[in-house]
Amino acid sequence: MTKPRTAVDALRVVNPATGELIATLPASTAYEVKRAAEHAQRVFESGVWSRRTPRERAAVLLRLADLMERDAEVLAHLDSEDAGKPITECRTGDVPGAIESIRWFAEAVDKVFGRIAPAGHDQMGLVSREPVGVAAAILPWNYPLAMTSWKVGPALAAGNSLLLKPAEATPRSTLHLAALAAEAGLPEGVLTVLPGHGAVAGTALARDPLVGALSFTGSTAVGRRILADAAETNFKRVSLEMGGKSPQVLMPDALGFGDELIDHMIEAAFLTTGQNCTAGSRVLVHRDIADEVTARFTAAAKDLVIGDPAQPATRIGPLISHAAFKRVADAVDRARAAGAQIHTAGLPHGLPARGAYYPPTVITGAPEGSDVLTRELFGPVVTIQTFTSEAEAVRTANATEYGLAASVWTRDLDAAFRLAHGIQAGVVSVNAYSEGDITTPFGGWKQSGFGGAEKSTTAFDQWTREKTIWIRTR
Ligand code: NAD
Repeated sequence: MTKPRTAVDALRVVNPATGELIATLPASTAYEVKRAAEHAQRVFESGVWSRRTPRERAAVLLRLADLMERDAEVLAHLDSEDAGKPITECRTGDVPGAIESIRWFAEAVDKVFGRIAPAGHDQMGLVSREPVGVAAAILPWNYPLAMTSWKVGPALAAGNSLLLKPAEATPRSTLHLAALAAEAGLPEGVLTVLPGHGAVAGTALARDPLVGALSFTGSTAVGRRILADAAETNFKRVSLEMGGKSPQVLMPDALGFGDELIDHMIEAAFLTTGQNCTAGSRVLVHRDIADEVTARFTAAAKDLVIGDPAQPATRIGPLISHAAFKRVADAVDRARAAGAQIHTAGLPHGLPARGAYYPPTVITGAPEGSDVLTRELFGPVVTIQTFTSEAEAVRTANATEYGLAASVWTRDLDAAFRLAHGIQAGVVSVNAYSEGDITTPFGGWKQSGFGGAEKSTTAFDQWTREKTIWIRTR
């Protein structure tokens, strides 16, 4: 436990677009995680945050949101450089969304009431919500600030002390957020960022006996490991937001939506260069319109601007790493070898050689059961499959182990409802690619999610526990 730091403990933050080293940070050791949890527990018990009124906590979080607004451009650059995300996405999506999340949970926390049980005239059952104490969150690299804000907002509003482990590749926006929280007046020790490796700091959090709740966003494989670690130690409450393989279902009248349909399909497929948990990576289209949809969608995909994520016009940046590139390229090669058709314009000349760029790619004719149809690829690759009946569309939509999101396109209200009910996913959007907004819960079904949802007042369930106080009156 007291093992000294070694070179292996260093975190190297590298710009995926250029390969340039941006920062080297000490990586938290298991011992440091343990000490941080003990400190967080003392801070929680001191009441310096946990016993402030919800309105007082809200005031600090609202100041934090204002400071994020002040530093919006800094935050956008940190995520764009660390994750290779197109800067326009960070400016228009991630950063404003993160500010809204902190503000919304601050405003919500004093509007969530407990309950009084129907107990009879000489007794009273009060059901109150209490913070869990020391809480933790483990974050992915693809939406660093956004995912941080979904956890920080409700966890701190509810009065917990929170330990945050950002992904190895993207610690800087989380660290900046913590600095802004201190500037906003958050007491020391309420929010602690522990940059570190998953196998070391992540495992230490998942196994720490003081951590009462842990919220994870990342891959299904790691989610499974965390759940096992929690079960083997203190049964901490675990909520997991994991991978996806989301369908976009286009009924025969979908082309009536014109360019709007193609724009949404492109956004669904290629946001964050396809490295998005809700990426609409499977287009399911009715056979009657399949040729036209394929032609228009493929043409639009070939037109996307690929290049330096720091340029405002860029829509497709690099993949996060060369290992990710190999995973995506190998899967596409296997599909090609199995007889699928691969549609892509390739890469433009002049991209930095060290960036792991992969071009937007559309696959048709992939044989049933191919891994491009069922596994999360996490890159700018989309398959197109056809169907002839609504029942077949639902069956195909549900033919993966995932159930995160889906979209459905039709003006036939009855068909839209039937599809929305039939598709097994946490969010089904109709005539849009959307995850809903901050007022609606976001959580996966099947192997995309476990133990609770984020956003909306539902998120407080992850970060609070109910207590019954039973009073007998005389
Ligand atoms: P990942 O699972 O590799 O890593 C996520 C986090 O877990 C990182 O902080 C990592 O250090 C940590 N980790 C790794 N091994 C660990 C271990 N043994 N114990 C504890 N922590 C460990 O995922 P990623 O590559 O960062 O992110 C991509 C994945 O995240 C995709 O599958 C994507 O679909 C998913 N994701 C889901 C959502 C959602 O809301 N459902 C949102 C964004 C990303």
